Amino acid sequence: MCRHLGYVGPPVRVGDMLTLGPHSLRTQAWAPRDMRRGGTINADGFGVAWWRAEDDTVTVSRYRNPAPIWTDPAVEEVLPHLESWAVLGAVRSATIGMPVERSACAPFTRGRWAFSHNGVVPDWRAALTAVAAEFAGAAAELDADGLFAPARLLEAESATDSAALWVLLGALLATDVPDGDWAAAPAALRLLLSAVLTHAPDSRLNLLLGDGAQLWATAWYHSLSALVTDDFAILSSEPFDDDPRWQAIPDRSLVTARPGHLAVEPLPDPERPAQ
Ligand code: GLN
Repeated sequence: MCRHLGYVGPPVRVGDMLTLGPHSLRTQAWAPRDMRRGGTINADGFGVAWWRAEDDTVTVSRYRNPAPIWTDPAVEEVLPHLESWAVLGAVRSATIGMPVERSACAPFTRGRWAFSHNGVVPDWRAALTAVAAEFAGAAAELDADGLFAPARLLEAESATDSAALWVLLGALLATDVPDGDWAAAPAALRLLLSAVLTHAPDSRLNLLLGDGAQLWATAWYHSLSALVTDDFAILSSEPFDDDPRWQAIPDRSLVTARPGHLAVEPLPDPERPAQ
């Protein structure tokens, strides 16, 4: 079920974040250790986002390919020539019924945000339409721009649960505080997770979000580990080496990480709707 990784710290070579360590993200594509019955390998493409500063504005660039990561020479020949202080990468195992195409590969980006989803939302078209309708109703006064109109889901880059989740999360992030406000991200993730679980209780929702300065992630069913020092912060579906400082994140957690800071908060079990 997909593997993802986020890094913030001193500048690194973008390609290195995909190939670093004996159990790199690229290795996790064909030999993942902890898929929890969510598929076997992650051969349906990959993507990587990195942050750069241009005219005092921080923006995200990305590279994606729907082919298996181990077949793409750009990983060795191009991506190591790019440098950034923040990187977010993902390898994909397409959920049954979802297209295998470049636009379905995480990371999904907007402004200074990059996002990846490891998991699945069962019956996502109905569930996420219901979530959008719920948000639109609850936030009517904030919704002057129709941010949560269910038709906005048509803006999803690809017909997948993950791309539709990004439409909803992007709208939440844009709702009440400007992009980049750190208070907005955890609140938006909590809100999204609980609404999706209300409508699709069996969802698997490991979300990973970055703004170039900080990373936020949820662990909901799938594996997640953190390696945070005073200098850098990494969140990864699986540790990519045997550094003893890797910490396994407990299931049902919300994580905030930046260099010198790791916070892990439990996520409440959302109430299941009456049957
Ligand atoms: N459901 C998402 C997709 O198909 C994520 C898949 C995964 O985590 N394996 O892209």
